[in-house]
Amino acid sequence: MPRKILVTSALPYANGPLHFGHVIEAVQTDIWVRFQKLRGHDCLYVCAEDAHGTPIMIRARQDGITPEQLIAASAQDHARDYAGFLIGFDQFHSTHSDENRRITFDLYERLRKRGSITRRSVRQSYDEQAGMFLPDRFVRGTCPRCNTPDQYGDSCESCGATYSPADLKDAVSTVTGTTPVLRDSDHLFFRLGEYEAMLRDWLATSGLQDSVKAKLAEWFEAGLKDWDISRDAPYFGFEIPDAPGKYFYVWFDAPIGYIGSFAALAAKRGLDFDAYWRSETATELHHFIGKDISYFHTLFWPAVLYGAGLRRPTGVHVHGFLTVDGQKMSKSRGTFITAQRYLQLLPPEPLRYYFAAKLSGGLEDIDLNLEDFTARVNSDVVGKLVNIASRCAPFIERAGGHLAEELPDPALYQQFVEGRERIARLFEARDTAAAIREIMQLADRANQYVDAQKPWVLAKDPARIDEARAIATQAINLFRVLLVYLTPVLPAISATAGGWLGADAFASWDGIDAPLLGRAIGKYPQLATRVDPTIVRQLVATTPAAEAPAPPQATTAKPAAKPASTPRPAATVAAAATPSKDPGMISIDDFAKLDLRAAKVLEASRVEGSDKLLCLKLDLGDHQRQVFSGISASYAPEQLVGRFVVMIANLAPRKMRFGVSEGMVLCASGKADGNDTGVFLLSADAGVLPGMKIS
Ligand SMILES: [Zn+2]
Repeated sequence: MPRKILVTSALPYANGPLHFGHVIEAVQTDIWVRFQKLRGHDCLYVCAEDAHGTPIMIRARQDGITPEQLIAASAQDHARDYAGFLIGFDQFHSTHSDENRRITFDLYERLRKRGSITRRSVRQSYDEQAGMFLPDRFVRGTCPRCNTPDQYGDSCESCGATYSPADLKDAVSTVTGTTPVLRDSDHLFFRLGEYEAMLRDWLATSGLQDSVKAKLAEWFEAGLKDWDISRDAPYFGFEIPDAPGKYFYVWFDAPIGYIGSFAALAAKRGLDFDAYWRSETATELHHFIGKDISYFHTLFWPAVLYGAGLRRPTGVHVHGFLTVDGQKMSKSRGTFITAQRYLQLLPPEPLRYYFAAKLSGGLEDIDLNLEDFTARVNSDVVGKLVNIASRCAPFIERAGGHLAEELPDPALYQQFVEGRERIARLFEARDTAAAIREIMQLADRANQYVDAQKPWVLAKDPARIDEARAIATQAINLFRVLLVYLTPVLPAISATAGGWLGADAFASWDGIDAPLLGRAIGKYPQLATRVDPTIVRQLVATTPAAEAPAPPQATTAKPAAKPASTPRPAATVAAAATPSKDPGMISIDDFAKLDLRAAKVLEASRVEGSDKLLCLKLDLGDHQRQVFSGISASYAPEQLVGRFVVMIANLAPRKMRFGVSEGMVLCASGKADGNDTGVFLLSADAGVLPGMKIS
């Protein structure tokens, strides 16, 4: 039975660029949604810009534009970046929309009629010059406990004390720099405490993670307090209908934005609103969020929904924070990586794959280690998965372009298909790390099969080309099963492979019941290329402070990041061997004897009978060279065509078993954690032409 499922991820705030913290959550959600769709379920994914609040209002003022202009520009940037990471929203909307206004008013009215809204006076910091009440974060001053200057109005970054802005010494408004005064104002409160019994019941029946349940138990223990849902003008948001001059607090209408976004989608597609939102509906509702906002999603949100007579979430799936190389993302360390920064350097799927390989469905933090990222993606996606297809495709082409009529080893195929339910359970539980481990174990077995059957040996004998084709057909079918499993993670590679084997090959999870046999297939396309570690290193801006350029990402309204006191050394991804302290020095004349040239790879192919060598045909501008290079373990031939390499052009030609090698291609290699890193070709910056001399 197909399930009806509505999925959301947290709404990005409209005053700054998307960064890796946003990306990992969107990728986790998108993988889950694509998995459900691939399984044939009716699954929708909605999100929106979180467009309200004081920071938006202040930022727009600083930029000399209206808040509407600010949030429109931000929405455009965010939508572009999500699309860049292949996030397949059914709807990306805004909390500053007609749908959201109507639904927010409606929910508020229902809560008010139920007696869940109360009003009382609140004393708060007020900036007389700006004529506005100040959120805690807009007041700074000296910590009352440890006397550290320049701390926020709610907590001290030095000693960890929490307090109210009125306790700060020398408090100033960050809006005008003047000293705030205290002023009273009436606020509206949501009576959360009334919902405790319902919330306890909900948490017992919903599929919350154990550590989230434990956190909720702590909050129950501390007592549920009324929640302040109003703010005074000036404020950018929705004015409260029965309280002129007062606005809904951004956190009240932000989660309602999930419903607003769905309403916009429902209008477009003619969906039944009640089937998704009425109380006790069987339609599932899943929220994916970071642990910093679980309070809002596991207490206020289900209580607001219930109080308004709507359904509660089926699941709230909480993930941990992202760290980079073991540390909190930091602008000063250059590890605050924006979505744009990444997309300017690399394609989306390596990062999608890496995040998937790290996410296990729990709340622990996820570390992006840049060396591990390069090694993992190159080894798994290129070296294992794509390798199965790329090394077998030529035998199909040589045999006429049709797959064989039957599999030589149907039992092996069946073993791959039988992994399906186990892998599905892992995807369902968001343990993509375990799913990928299972899939890569199968990929190893597929490669072992090809290694043992050696189709390249069979293919040497024209009379045995059909046997080679049968082996290749088996291997390509194993590859196809694996890529169906990975389609939620690698949708673009899957689509490209669909152009090769037929779009139907990757269209459904259960399609693997029938192997691909007898059909004509297209020309083998390039499915993935290795991630270049020199490019990966550019993700983190680690230039020494003295020559540091302007930070690559757009800055937000927050104060400029302090410069790093100790610049972090450049990451040592795939570092070459450390130079000896006592090298045998050479003179510049010795160096001049080497004729180093930039060369463009025109063709690259495997060398039959050698598992180490690739045969490269290189363009040196005025002539071409053939070079055999021992890089087969690190590069697939199709990754190399079109790229530049560095070669020694005046090395005496060497006759090898396979032909004459007319030079040498330069590579870096070394050890990391005691293991060989493999070899890395050196690349050239844009602008280099074939044959240019390197000096
Ligand atoms: Zn302090």
